[in-house]
Amino acid sequence: MEDYRQAATAIRNVSAEFTAVLPRILKPGESKFLHKIADLKPDAVLARNLEELAFFRERHIPVIVDFSLNVINDLAFYQMLDWGAERVTFGLDVNEQQMRNLLQHVPPERVEQVVIGRVPLFTMEHCLWQTQFLKPGEPCQKLCREQPLQIEDRYGALHTVRADIFCRNIVERSEPIESQPLAAHLRIEWDDRMNEQRVAEILDQAFARK
Ligand SMILES: [Zn+2]
Repeated sequence: MEDYRQAATAIRNVSAEFTAVLPRILKPGESKFLHKIADLKPDAVLARNLEELAFFRERHIPVIVDFSLNVINDLAFYQMLDWGAERVTFGLDVNEQQMRNLLQHVPPERVEQVVIGRVPLFTMEHCLWQTQFLKPGEPCQKLCREQPLQIEDRYGALHTVRADIFCRNIVERSEPIESQPLAAHLRIEWDDRMNEQRVAEILDQAFARK
């Protein structure tokens, strides 16, 4: 939680808007975390599940729906708007041609596109930092959010592992999201009104551990 607080302060110090990126998984009993985020009065939040969407919509904080909600057609898109989403990120299964088709049927100014980012492969309860670097039962505290970690697969590809606020680990595909080559052309080729683009890349200075 302290990470969010520090980020909010740093972002506001440069007069930028603070959008809180919320956890992908939220289990029963964990929603009190959302109250703490709401107390920071974010300008918007990036919701990764329906509970987060409902929670912040009720509090009139603008919600951007992330690709994890798998919106891949106009019906789902309008459902998200009905449920109070400010903008919607299409699911990762939507390819370039499908995106062009969808933009004929939805308001482009309500679309947010990831220009650079990583694909989460899976999320697990298991904390790799805790099992690899600490004694059994020893809490990892902030280690898993401060110490970079990558795992190498049998083909030699390095996948970054990140820990969320609940210490769940997310393994991300080594290859970034592929809309990057399109980034320079998004505004002129796609639709002038589709002007919300997200750069989700975090520079990795991680070390590999086989
Ligand atoms: Zn941990």
